[in-house]
Amino acid sequence: MTQPPMPPPMPSDDGARPPPPVPPPAPVGDHDAPAEPLHTVCPTCGSQVGYAPGTTSLRCQSCGGTVDIEAVDATIEEHDYDAWQARHGTVEVASLAEHVLQCQNCGATTETKDIAGTCQFCSGTLIALGHPEGLMRPEGVVPFGVDKRGAQDAFGKWVTSRWFAPTALKKVNSTEGLAGTYVPHWTYDAQTETDYRGQRGEYYYVTVTDRVPDGNGGTKTVTRQERRTRWYPARGHVARFFDDVVVPASTRLDDDRLEKMGPWQLADAVPYQPEYLAGYAALRYDVDPDDGSAVARDKMRDVIRTDCKRDIGGDEQRVSSMDITYSQAMFKLLLMPLWIATYLYGGKTFQVMVNANTGEVVGERPYSWLKITAAVVVGLAVAILLIWVFGSGESSG
Ligand SMILES: [Zn+2]
Ligand SMILES: [Zn+2]
Repeated sequence: MTQPPMPPPMPSDDGARPPPPVPPPAPVGDHDAPAEPLHTVCPTCGSQVGYAPGTTSLRCQSCGGTVDIEAVDATIEEHDYDAWQARHGTVEVASLAEHVLQCQNCGATTETKDIAGTCQFCSGTLIALGHPEGLMRPEGVVPFGVDKRGAQDAFGKWVTSRWFAPTALKKVNSTEGLAGTYVPHWTYDAQTETDYRGQRGEYYYVTVTDRVPDGNGGTKTVTRQERRTRWYPARGHVARFFDDVVVPASTRLDDDRLEKMGPWQLADAVPYQPEYLAGYAALRYDVDPDDGSAVARDKMRDVIRTDCKRDIGGDEQRVSSMDITYSQAMFKLLLMPLWIATYLYGGKTFQVMVNANTGEVVGERPYSWLKITAAVVVGLAVAILLIWVFGSGESSG
């Protein structure tokens, strides 16, 4: 175990204004255990305490007593992407050792690719107190803001707003069906400078003459205006700074669904403290930073393409090439809170996730063929009734 290097002592003030201090490079990936052990035991009754959503404290599940999470004097730091790549870029997270989690109640240890969970022996809080070399530790946490009851309410509303959902879906709305899980996400910053080439399309109109039937067996001439596009070559330069482009860092949940969970309120993120994980599961990332970066750059590229089109102007735009330079690339790892419910219906597994930061619900849902069939039958009956009413009305009139 190595401690992160201490910053050198500040030079004493000798009257001259010293240059702004250069912060030491943030130690990355090989942070060690927090200096203080985590306290997840209720001081009143000895039960396990867990993070209470929307607060800065841990709450006892047995007696309701609370323990404040000690405030730390820390800020969420972003890491220099190139420096990290130079140091750890060849290490793939899949090849790293599993985390050793220790139960804060009975002391049992377990090796896993999660960074927090629940002890299988005593239901105590399992938490990673250190991180394997080469693995980035979370820089920040968006703590649970929506508690289990709130998640149930959000899920209940989601279910009742779904058309043709089977009645059985409502049974998922039970306490044990929702698991609170922190899911890792990367965020990327970059300054981009882009030289582009393309074409600017400008509309013009021409008068077109057509011969059409005149209704008397002959033809007649009509004229109309037709829009055409004239294309001009275009080239130029656009620049944009991207701040916190969020990319899911776990493949253990459906990627598309995770993308739909956003946008996250990143302003709610706090510096990582293991206390926020107490009582929840937390996944460790399995998307390497360079793979995440490729996804982030795809997202940036889409925005830059729009910038290029705006820069080209005219009525229509084509972008044929973009030469993008990325600089000042920074990144960090954040844990995002989700309530996840998995349920079985008709022999098939469905998953629903509630964003515990915003209350957004995204999920898979079955369709009730019974309800759909009933709706179709009712619709047909109404149609037949209408035809009968209006049909008979006409014949008698
Ligand atoms: Zn207690
Ligand atoms: Zn235990």
